[in-house]
Amino acid sequence: MSADLLELRGIHKSFSRGFRKRVDALQGVDLRVSAGEARIITIAGESGSGKSTLGMLALGFLAPDAGEVRFRGQDVGQLRGRSLREFRRSVQAIFQNPFSAFNPFYPVDHVLRLTLRNFAPQQDRAGVEASISEALSALHLDPAAILGKHPHQLSGGQLQRVMLARAFLLRPELIIADEPVSMIDASLRAVVLANMLELKERHGISQLYITHDLSTARQISDRILILYRGRVVEAGSMDHVLDAPQHPYTQLLIQAIPQPDPTKRWQAPLDWQRGEAAAETAEMDGGCPFYSRCPQRMDRCLAAVPPLYATPANTQAACYLHEPESTSTA
Ligand code: ADP
Ligand code: MG
Repeated sequence: MSADLLELRGIHKSFSRGFRKRVDALQGVDLRVSAGEARIITIAGESGSGKSTLGMLALGFLAPDAGEVRFRGQDVGQLRGRSLREFRRSVQAIFQNPFSAFNPFYPVDHVLRLTLRNFAPQQDRAGVEASISEALSALHLDPAAILGKHPHQLSGGQLQRVMLARAFLLRPELIIADEPVSMIDASLRAVVLANMLELKERHGISQLYITHDLSTARQISDRILILYRGRVVEAGSMDHVLDAPQHPYTQLLIQAIPQPDPTKRWQAPLDWQRGEAAAETAEMDGGCPFYSRCPQRMDRCLAAVPPLYATPANTQAACYLHEPESTSTA
């Protein structure tokens, strides 16, 4: 039996877009979340790079066209009954828009009660109230300030923390958080990120943090995978990747992080939104997907998609600049 909590292996996923148009959202992606010590793993990449698709596959909401999603060694697509329920409890989701996660006609605690009714139907009234207070307190939310409030009476940051409390009620092993702070006022983001870090450190909950924002990723995560057009182009520990990026794409991304120095004007060498357009255009047949935007491209890069190579900075990068000499055909 596998030691991994969740493993995605060789994942391919395409979507058809109208007549004869196909988008390859993921093309051969591997990802492992160990069952050992809790970790926060960032999945970063520009818009359209396949981040949300990866999250939906990890949640079992989408099935891969090829490859496998395994939970504790079992194919997620084959889970039934008790084991499916256990997967559904263990792997929780937080999405970008906290306002759409709540029914505007009910107080926000309705979603907490529903969750308990589903997963812990044996709990009596007092038990339900105690669990809810405990979960809110774990997120440093004052139950008196939250219970009975309607979604419009709370901030986006508070709502997102209530969603984390909802997840916490189930004592999950993994939370998939897809852009959880990108719709939240900058002043409230830090609290949500601190909550996420605490869920890992105090409560042992691993997380996939899906984001296009490398500065928040740096604050909370242990590992990072950089996606470009459905492929992992670089992966490694957060510090290794951000301090010494080895893939030309990662290098451009890191230059694009706004400088805190107000005298320096922020120069964005990459437009995050461009990715969507790039993904739509016909990809070169068989070559490196970053070729057309790469400042260091070589003829070699047109021949085949580069695999992930070990780099001197202890990361893995899908770039021929890191191909070991002995196997080079150039
Ligand atoms: P990201 O979250 O990084 O912005 P997505 O995973 O949402 O990227 O999308 C990856 C690619 O797949 C994009 O080109 C997107 O338009 C396409 N895509 C995602 N979901 C669907 C869908 N349900 N139907 C058609 N195309 C989709
Ligand atoms: Mg997305």
